[in-house]
Amino acid sequence: MRILVTGGAGFLGSHLCDRLLKDGNDVICLDNFFTGRKSNIAHLHGRPDFELVRHDVIDPFKFEVDQIYNLACPASPPHYQFNPIKTTKTSVMGAINALGLAKRVRARVFQASTSEVYGDPSVHPQPESYWGNVNPIGKRSCYDEGKRVAETLFFDYHRENKVDIRIVRIFNTYGPRMHPNDGRVVSNFIVQALKGEDITIYGDGLQTRSFCYVDDLIEGFVRLMNQTETVGPINIGNPGEFTMLQLAELTLKLVGGKSKIVYRPLPSDDPKQRRPDITLAQKYLNNWSPNVQLEEGLKRTIAYFKTQV
Ligand code: NAD
Ligand code: UDP
Repeated sequence: MRILVTGGAGFLGSHLCDRLLKDGNDVICLDNFFTGRKSNIAHLHGRPDFELVRHDVIDPFKFEVDQIYNLACPASPPHYQFNPIKTTKTSVMGAINALGLAKRVRARVFQASTSEVYGDPSVHPQPESYWGNVNPIGKRSCYDEGKRVAETLFFDYHRENKVDIRIVRIFNTYGPRMHPNDGRVVSNFIVQALKGEDITIYGDGLQTRSFCYVDDLIEGFVRLMNQTETVGPINIGNPGEFTMLQLAELTLKLVGGKSKIVYRPLPSDDPKQRRPDITLAQKYLNNWSPNVQLEEGLKRTIAYFKTQV
């Protein structure tokens, strides 16, 4: 198949490009390089089955493709809050443009949604049937509400225009090729520990997240895209749940060094807990479940950051 990956030069997108090429597909990677890097896909340059296009998804695009994975959007809170209006436009216009193309060329189209659609959840763990608890006017809203509107657009194009959609709700994912300045917690803690700097815990460190290793997530993406039982949304994540204090201590143990843990103010609307209910992924995605647990995934990610820092 010929497959378009928007946001293909980013952390997840570049791993997805690798996987799709490995499976024998031709890949077009579209990116505006806001948070993505050419170095993430440099190893693919010159391959006859790979093309790179610099383009912004808020402007329409046209390609003859069989499948579209729509990943373009900054994902880390400091980056998506840097230009919040642009973030909402990227989610909304990016979805409209991906869906418009899918409709024209009859391609199957996949949306990278997020656990952020659950906001600060009052149901725990979060099943796909939970409608969420999102502040519509806070600093995280540009991302959360942008992604919620994108899901709405996907379902309206599906119902009204018979567009063949798939939606994944991604829970915190980490691994090699995260940007050292990404700002998300796993890369922050590892980079701080490697540099011997203070480990910055926001708030009391008792808030929880569930961390999925990138390879497990990408396997889930491909399974969701290529089955016909459900359009989603489907949660993909690792149900192992950790406090940020536990993550800091584990990172320190694995990296070694002399970093101290310090406490910084909690950003507004920071969710207190998050853990995926993956019953539907197991049911529809051929018993998908994550294979790489946190300690092993952190070791692999630390090995990568040692080459970067
Ligand atoms: P990332 O920031 O590394 O990748 C995003 C990519 O999109 C970058 O290459 C960036 O340059 C590109 N991009 C941003 N705005 C664009 C625009 N207007 N036009 C074209 N390209 C644009 O982040 P990531 O972690 O790889 O996230 C990829 C997708 O997965 C995002 O849609 C994100 O919302 C979603 N997601 C990720 C996670 C996670 O934990 N990694 C969790 C939930 C959802
Ligand atoms: N966090 C932290 N220190 C950091 C970066 C983040 O304690 O240096 C916290 C953050 O406040 C949140 C959790 O770690 O409670 C996960 O943050 P991240 O930005 O990785 O993802 P998200 O909040 O979007 O799940």
